[in-house]
Amino acid sequence: MDNKFPGKDITESDLKEKFPLVAKKNSKHKSIFEIAGVEFGGDQIPIFAGPNMIESKELIFDVVKNVKKSGANFLRGGAFKPLTFPYRSKKYNETREEGIKWLKEAKEEFNFPIITEIMEEKFLPLVCEVTDIIQIGSRNMQNFPFLTACAKTNKPIMLKRHYGASLRDWLGAAEYILYEGNNKLILCERGVSVPHTHRSTSRFLLDLQVIPATQEVTHLPIVSDPSHATFWRPWVKSMTLASIASGADGIMLEVHPDPENSAVDPLQPISFDEFDDLVKDMDKVAKAIDKRIAK
Ligand code: PEP
Ligand code: MN
Repeated sequence: MDNKFPGKDITESDLKEKFPLVAKKNSKHKSIFEIAGVEFGGDQIPIFAGPNMIESKELIFDVVKNVKKSGANFLRGGAFKPLTFPYRSKKYNETREEGIKWLKEAKEEFNFPIITEIMEEKFLPLVCEVTDIIQIGSRNMQNFPFLTACAKTNKPIMLKRHYGASLRDWLGAAEYILYEGNNKLILCERGVSVPHTHRSTSRFLLDLQVIPATQEVTHLPIVSDPSHATFWRPWVKSMTLASIASGADGIMLEVHPDPENSAVDPLQPISFDEFDDLVKDMDKVAKAIDKRIAK
């Protein structure tokens, strides 16, 4: 049998032939690189924090000021949003280019790096002027021509896992990016769809096991996004700490000044105070495994 990893769908020949650039060359192989002065893939755990959507300039300025003070390393927030139902999209379509402008202003004012999602190739030049990392959302994970176009910009990329994708599919998508010679690639687990066989499961289920499974086969850093995975504020703290304990190389969190009135997904963001407390606990868990939160 060609199956080196029992119980998983990845074989020795996948590593050699399907995604040789993504595959580890030896058991110690790990990509360590810097983005905007922040190290990824080493012993430090970077934090991306911010709202789901860039709702206004005031909101973004307020968020940057607060999350920076608490220890975040990047501002997250979407101007271009994949929204499940069209009506809010129509409303926010008008502010999406403006959203990128507000991100640029915030970046200049606070000297703080940015990660933001892009959904269409035609907006790459606009977004790349501002962002430090291109976020490819779960819904675009297998949009292969789009992956190639993003990779060709040579900007660092974070590739979110589709909620229905196997690790094998996800690594196949990652190979498209490395194939273009773009090596600053981060993976992000954001929860998978599972049959609702019991009521403790939210819309998605954070696949904690995929963190060590990914690290077994690839050298790429893997970030966890407990906000989108749990879809439920009361579970964000425990799943963030569990992600760090599971070996996550970074954390993405939705943080909002008024979580309950967040324009999108108001059940999942945490408040500034909750974020501030959580960062302290994250550092304790990180230290327990000889890591630390990135400074
Ligand atoms: C997001 O990070 O705002 C987002 C839309 O995530 P995902 O693609 O994982 O749903
Ligand atoms: Mn979101």
